[in-house]
Amino acid sequence: MIEKSDPRAVSQSVVRACEERAARASELAGLFTAAAEPLRFAEGLFRAQADAARRLTPDFAKAVEASRSVIDYVAAQGPSALAADARGFQSDRLRAYWGGMLEFDYLSRAALQPYARFLRERGIALERPEGPCSACGGAPWIAARRGGGGPNSDGSARSLLCAFCALEWQLPRIRCPACGEEDPGKLPNYAAPEHPAARIEACETCRAYVKSIDLSKDARPLPEVDDLVSLSLDLWALEQGFTRLEPGLAGL
Ligand SMILES: [Zn+2]
Ligand SMILES: [Zn+2]
Repeated sequence: MIEKSDPRAVSQSVVRACEERAARASELAGLFTAAAEPLRFAEGLFRAQADAARRLTPDFAKAVEASRSVIDYVAAQGPSALAADARGFQSDRLRAYWGGMLEFDYLSRAALQPYARFLRERGIALERPEGPCSACGGAPWIAARRGGGGPNSDGSARSLLCAFCALEWQLPRIRCPACGEEDPGKLPNYAAPEHPAARIEACETCRAYVKSIDLSKDARPLPEVDDLVSLSLDLWALEQGFTRLEPGLAGL
């Protein structure tokens, strides 16, 4: 067991989590050539985050310094628009994002993810505006379905994963995580045969959706990374007028 009050042990645990994500992205990039580009970019992003995580303390100013490796990586390796944004990045955006003043900011989220996780695992209050995640106020970027309902995965337990601090929490299977809708008739699921583990869980009431990844047949996926294999589902959902609750690693 990790002694969570030991800052070095917690920092190591965040580093390991980043490295696990990187390893999964690398593995998937070899398996799914169509998605290799975003997966290779994500792999490097996770390695830059691991670098940042090695230097974390509870101090926000230190976290801003440490996150430079993430911004520099995106500036050098990111898709062109994001790379340009990274080259002009001013670190006061990090403070604004932390304070909830920015709706969505891919770079600030990526830069501060290790720090948010570090504080949460150390049991330090994050002092951010309230939101779906009870630890950091962040929103879930993906859901996981696990076994528990026998061969029919509709009986699976469902949990949401915070995009910022990586907290995972359970959610009743029939409930919209955005607006709380519980009428099954208003909560359609969409899937495509080419992505058997992924599913779009939409809400007709608020038009939000969350993508879920089935872990009941294969426990190896990391939902937030495996997400990148099925971006065609997101493009389809956007075309239908649904909005993803919180963009994933591809920024969709
Ligand atoms: Zn969180
Ligand atoms: Zn809803």
